[in-house]
Order: sequence, then structure tokens, then C-alpha cells
Amino acid sequence: MTHHDAGLPSARRSPSEDDTPRAWPPLGPEPNVLLVWPRFPPSFWGFEGMITLLPEKSVLPPLGLITVAALCPARWRLRLIDMACLPLTDADIESADLVMVSAMQAQRADLGAVLARCRALGTRTIIGGPYASSEPDVLLRIADHVVVGEIDGCFAEIAADLEQGNAKRLYRVDEKPDVSASPMPRFDLLRLQDYASMSVQFSRGCPFQCEFCDIITIYGRRPRTKSPAQLIGELDRLRTLGWRKPVFIVDDNFIGNWRKALGLCQELAAWQERYEYPFPLYTEASIDLAGHTDLLDTMVKANFTSVFIGIESPSEASLRETKKYQNLRHDIFDQIRIIQRGGLWVTAGFIVGFDSDDEQIFARQIEFVERAAIPWAMTGVLQAPPTTALYDRLLAEGRIRDNSDAMTNHSLPNFRTVLPTGVLMGGLRRILLELYDPDRFYERAIRSLEYWQTSPAQRAPALPWRYLLRATLGSMWHQGVTSNYRAAYWRFVGVMFWRWTRDRVKLWEASIILLSAHHFVGFARHTALDIERSVELAASTPDPMPRAWTAASGV
Ligand code: SF4
Repeated sequence: MTHHDAGLPSARRSPSEDDTPRAWPPLGPEPNVLLVWPRFPPSFWGFEGMITLLPEKSVLPPLGLITVAALCPARWRLRLIDMACLPLTDADIESADLVMVSAMQAQRADLGAVLARCRALGTRTIIGGPYASSEPDVLLRIADHVVVGEIDGCFAEIAADLEQGNAKRLYRVDEKPDVSASPMPRFDLLRLQDYASMSVQFSRGCPFQCEFCDIITIYGRRPRTKSPAQLIGELDRLRTLGWRKPVFIVDDNFIGNWRKALGLCQELAAWQERYEYPFPLYTEASIDLAGHTDLLDTMVKANFTSVFIGIESPSEASLRETKKYQNLRHDIFDQIRIIQRGGLWVTAGFIVGFDSDDEQIFARQIEFVERAAIPWAMTGVLQAPPTTALYDRLLAEGRIRDNSDAMTNHSLPNFRTVLPTGVLMGGLRRILLELYDPDRFYERAIRSLEYWQTSPAQRAPALPWRYLLRATLGSMWHQGVTSNYRAAYWRFVGVMFWRWTRDRVKLWEASIILLSAHHFVGFARHTALDIERSVELAASTPDPMPRAWTAASGV
């Protein structure tokens, strides 16, 4: 167990007296329910370094929790605390009849602390979400009720059990709900001013079969979508609540069903025009977007401005090994250019540590990211999340290590890699430091903005002058005066105003990139230090037992 994990039991520990669940009385018809979203540790997409320059407190809201909130009986009294924005006090916990938590694997440290506090203060807890779905046994030891799977279709039954005092310890929902019946998320529970971006979801599931991916094991390979009217209704709700900043369509693959995505974008384009483009959109998609030019054009007309693509590796052998066949059909580099030229600014994810990777992979990754001009290139090591095909393969090969407690894409892999750990982690460290060297980052950003062909249909958000003034002053002081990369900063500012003053959408994206350096440069340096420490620690401690052996030995 790491020092981050106070309160969360290890997957190997046996249940003890302390873990014994309490018998709970009925909640009654009008309970006070507190929805809690634990904090994430600093991460690539957390933009912590950039948020310090802005008035907001977090990048994205807890969409899953506000969707569950919409499923709760209307008579329940709900309150939401996103711990990135508000502290969770003992009084908050004590005044609730039920604390409802959702979390991802990355939030496990804070989640453990929240659940332990609730137990110590005698408040009942229920947890769902992606982490509960992949490791329910761990959570059953510290939460009162655990829900595995997507609860949209059966939450009414769980709520009735809670109200009447019949709630089970574990609910396992196997069927994949029809998301076209999902209610409108309770955006009204959020403090909108705390977020830099809002989120909505159009589809769940992805048709592909990448070996390391738990999206397909949790949500399935048949994408399920909302109707265009339903999603546009959600955007319209945000518009009427006064939201004017970007909106993230959180789908893991927005074009998993590309025909449905096209239908949505056609209606979205009309909606954007009708309301004078209230906000820009961004999402994640597979690389085959480059082959659907009609969809790409329509996304641009619907005011999508950027897209995240899972590229993973320039190595064909590694892509084949991980069954990412969609990235092998055409030259990836050409596909990226088609998308940039077609109107979307591209961000991407990269992975090192496949069995097929050799020591050349680090230089090849850096060369690819630079050539493709992808400023925000998330690079990490391969991990094998439980439930994935990769985990099952490595478990069968006796390669899973029992260190998954700390699994992030910068922590030591939870399996024995072919490349020695020191080489792999040293290579990752080099990638981060080279890609996020301030001069190289800004230079790559300039090239990316040149390749990006914007369209008159794309509009920057109209932000209040007070907001812009605060962001500008914050950036000028922290980046332009006190940072140790101020020369690169001012060079980028000069290029921005020299080249893109007439292209408002490009100028707006350039401003975000300008500020984002404050996050990425610091994040890369900190992560490089963390990597050094974890490699030293790994070298001085015995290798954790392979999980197959652990189970067989009954430890
Ligand atoms: S394309 Fe993305 S979401 Fe789909 S299976 Fe691969 S990694 Fe998962």
C-alpha cells in the first residue's frame, strides 16, 4: 500500500472485524443525500498548473454523479460536493443520511479517505462508477453498498431498497442500459462558475478491441447513443443556465457509431447557427475519423474545434500486438494531417511498454509527436487494468504484479515488462522532458496551429471582459514575469498576435495553449522526478509477487 492510499484496503488483505457491515435502518422517503466527487491527484489532463492562472477551480464537472442525481427520486434532498472545488467537512457528512460517491481508479486515494471518514462518523455510503465496477471486492470492505455496472435502468429499484431498509451490500447490473432513456443530468446542482469546461455524453461503448482498454469491458463493444434531440436538449439546458465556455462530449469514441454521430452533428450545426454558436465543442474519436470526411466537415459546422485521438504508438508491431487494428489501415501521420487540415486541432495519447517495444521506441515516439505537430501529447506507460483482455493474458502468463494500488500511466507498470523497468521508465522520463521543454512545446504548438485549417463556421466563446482580464493578468505575471520559461512565452505571444489576430478561433485556441504550458512544463518536470524516485525504490525493494502466485499460495 502506498502512502496515498490511507483508508483504502489492499486488494490482498482479508476482511476483518472492522470491515463488518452495519445493519442500516430504512432511509425513509425524504433523505438528505450528499453526492461526493473525490479529488484526482495531479494528472496530465487535470490542467492543475493552468487552473491556477484562471478564476475556475477545476476543468470538468462530475457528469456521472449529476446523472445519478437525475435518477434519484424527486423527493430526495440532494447536495453535491466536488472536492476539487469545495472542502468536505465533517458537518456535511454528519448531516447526510446517505453519502453517494462515484470515482475512477485515479481517485482511489481520496476516495479511500472519504469512505473512511464516513464510516468513522457513522454515515452510510453507497459507491458506483468505473472504479467500483472494476474492483468491487476492495470497496465492499469500506463502503456500505457497492454498485457494479451501469445503473441507469435499475436505480429506482436500488432507491426503493434504500428507502425501505432492504438494500443489498452489492448490486451487480449486467445489462447495458439504453442511454436514449437516460434523464437530463442535474446541471443545476453544479457551481458552474467553478469549471473551465462542461461535459455531456452522447454514446457509451466502442466497437474496437484494443487489448488494454477497459471501456469495452465495462460499456461494451456496441455503441449505444442518445437521440440528437436528447443531447441537444442537454446543450440547450446549459445554454439557458448561461454556460458560454467549451463543452466536452466525453464519449470514449464519439464516432463509435459514425452514422449516428453524423446525424447528431447535422442537427447540432443547425442548433449552433440558431443560437449564434453559444459554445465550442471537443471530444475523443478513433483515427478512422479521417476516412469519414462528411462527418469531419459536419463536426466543424457544429463548432467542434478539437479532438483527442488514441494514436498509442508509431510502431506497427506494437499496434498489432495490442489489437489496435484501426490504426494500421492507413498511414497514421497522413490521417492526422487530414483531420488537422479538415478543421480539428488534434491532441493525442501515446503509450510505451508494449512487448514489441525496443529501446528505439522513445526516440520514435518523440519524432512522431514532433512531426505530426501535436502539442498536447499524453504519453504514459502501458498498464493492465483489471477486467481487460491484456490483464487476463498477462495473468495467464504469470506476469501481473500485485502493485496495482498505484496504477497510473506514469507509475511502474502492474506487470513484468519485456523492456527492463529502468529502461522503460527512463525512456518515458526522456519523452516527457523533451516534449515539454518550453521552447519545443511552443514551437510545436505554432506548427500545429499552422496545420490546423479553421472554418468560418467555428466560433470562439464570447467570454466576459472581466474573465479575460483576470486570465491575461494571471498569465502575464506567472508565466511572463516570474516563470523560468518567460522568453519562450513572449516569443509565442508575439507569433500569436502577428499571425492570428484575424482568426478569432485560432487566437482563442492559441491563448489556451499559451496558458497550458504552465501546466505541462511543470507536470513533466514533477513527473520526471517521481519516475526517478519510483525506479530507485523499485531497485531497492523486492519485486512484488506475481498475482497468480499470490492467489495460489493463499496469502
Ligand atoms: S478505440 Fe479507444 S475506446 Fe475504443 S477500444 Fe480502443 S482504446 Fe478503447
